[in-house]
Amino acid sequence: MDSSYDVGLGNYDSIIRNVANKDSIKFWESQAHNIHWFEKWHTALEWNPPFARWFVGGKTNAAYNALDVITQKKPDKKAIIWEGENGEERILTYADLLQEVSKLANALKKLGVKKGDRVTIYLPMVPELIISLLACARIGAIHTVIFSGFSAKSIRDRIDDSKSKIVITADGGRRRGTVIKLKDIVDDAIKNLDFVEHVIILEHTHNDVKFTNKDKRWDELVGPMDVCCESEMLDSTHPLYILYTSGTTGKPKGVLHGTGGYLTHVFSTFKWIFDIKDSDVYFCTADIGWVTGHSYVVYGPLMHGATQVIYEGSLDYPTPARIWNLVSKYGITILYTTPTALRMFMKNGDDIPNSNNLSSLRLLGTVGEPINPKVWKWYFETIGKKRCPIVDTWWQTETGGAIISTVPGLETIPLKPGSAAKPVPGIHLSVVDDNGNKVKSDSKGYLVIENQWPGMLLTLWGDDEKYKAVYWSKYKNKYYAGDYAMMDTDGYMWLLGRADDVLKVAGHRLGTIELESTLVSHKSVAEAAVCGVPHEVKGESIIAFVVLKSGLLSDAQLKEDLIQHIRKTIGPIATPDKLYFVEKLPKTRSGKIMRRLLKAITQNEITGDVSTIEDEASIDEIKKAIAELS
Ligand code: ATP
Ligand code: MG
Repeated sequence: MDSSYDVGLGNYDSIIRNVANKDSIKFWESQAHNIHWFEKWHTALEWNPPFARWFVGGKTNAAYNALDVITQKKPDKKAIIWEGENGEERILTYADLLQEVSKLANALKKLGVKKGDRVTIYLPMVPELIISLLACARIGAIHTVIFSGFSAKSIRDRIDDSKSKIVITADGGRRRGTVIKLKDIVDDAIKNLDFVEHVIILEHTHNDVKFTNKDKRWDELVGPMDVCCESEMLDSTHPLYILYTSGTTGKPKGVLHGTGGYLTHVFSTFKWIFDIKDSDVYFCTADIGWVTGHSYVVYGPLMHGATQVIYEGSLDYPTPARIWNLVSKYGITILYTTPTALRMFMKNGDDIPNSNNLSSLRLLGTVGEPINPKVWKWYFETIGKKRCPIVDTWWQTETGGAIISTVPGLETIPLKPGSAAKPVPGIHLSVVDDNGNKVKSDSKGYLVIENQWPGMLLTLWGDDEKYKAVYWSKYKNKYYAGDYAMMDTDGYMWLLGRADDVLKVAGHRLGTIELESTLVSHKSVAEAAVCGVPHEVKGESIIAFVVLKSGLLSDAQLKEDLIQHIRKTIGPIATPDKLYFVEKLPKTRSGKIMRRLLKAITQNEITGDVSTIEDEASIDEIKKAIAELS
């Protein structure tokens, strides 16, 4: 193992792992004592496969845990340091946040919102987004957040699925110097959806909006409300939220999460992974429209009384230095971002981060996709200056919280660039073959979770059958994650891409990330994506798409170099049949490469759900690149 990456912070502590390994249910039960309960549970886990109910009989409340617990001790602690893309700033303490949440919660009650009702939230990254989630949680309404970049059609589908009574939105949101008129989009989305009773509109960008009889202005509605609102004592298994997955592999799924188990998982993992201290300034770049924002912007940090930076806008706007300006301006100590953002920062060159003071950073995190080893090393060296451990956190909307990651808040283990390391305490994982048998170390297979964990989804909203089919039908009593993976002889996990995207070339199975990381390891390459297309002899042939570093031009020689590079690194089996240079790759709004789309475009058929695509122009660009070469 390479000890040059051994920069963990905690003490080596296997005691907690030993306890967790012996009895994971008891272990999670011991962790549940760290959050606030109005009444204790009588049964730690009721498991009616595949439905788990954690801490049954317990009564708790997510907003109480995120706000009241801290406010009683440190009312003046800064909860949110908000910066808008246009440079505006706002600071909210825990006491401020509690007051605003209570007022909105009272307003929702006044509008007739009851326990279990759904409320759709379509807001930009402003403090009122966090306030809205917590106001719902306080009264037991189920929040369902929709990323503020989505179109009317995507919103309509989600509102129709969840049957929300209320929609909370804003006049507009800021992105790359322009205003996105959110209220107009909502008007379009809810046309003829009679079950939507009210729309609450926050005035944020102050653009003109047309008001209808369903509409209420946030200030007028919420302003006069009482600043106290008792938290509902909710069953531990009461649904906290519905959140639709990123849609990387197909139509997004409406994941339903509960309360007590979810909070326990998020509380524990936030502490273990980010090693949070009172003095930290935490910054997670994920939008609250994604699960990372729910667990590690809203519930995790607030339950720990952390101070965090919330930023509305593009991390590279108005200049590519924006992200690093934020780090130095606010003295950010913990930065949690995605491989796709890191590849963008890296593409822009080292001078930009190097000319900012990044000395406040002490811990770096990544989530969302496998991180290419070259990108990992860049993060470690150029951003972390070899001082900061990297936590590569593997998890899913469905898992509620992190499942695989190093845990510097608990123990120090050497880091391996590109590996997410080990399951967090209390989780048992395996890598299995098609028949469910464990494969040997260093062999590839499908990632499954063997035990129940407290953050696990309750079901898919309104669709128990789909829940059973997607996660529990491939293997008996094992959660099928849908990712391809490998465990090495040290027990470290390597995530190799989506199970659906695995390539089978002449009898060999190749994960997309093995091929892509090899391409990215070439000095000229910023990003790469591969997919397989049917081939008469080989089964499948490899098609590669490459984005070059800024300022570099493609030519036949470079193409040949890249093909040789992949042949030398992996072997002739991995030789791409075609390699295209493109300006951008099709990605979801959450920043993940949509390989299924590449495959569809290559085969000249676009099928399936593209509602979560970041930029439709990327499809045309790929089509053009293919047409030019054929
Ligand atoms: P859909 O399920 O609709 O196709 P999605 O799976 O992209 O969308 P999310 O729940 O946002 O939706 O993403 C979870 C997936 O992201 C994981 O299954 C995994 O493929 C990938 N992922 C997340 N974190 C990591 C990581 N640290 N390393 C590797 N892959 C990761
Ligand atoms: Mg998924």
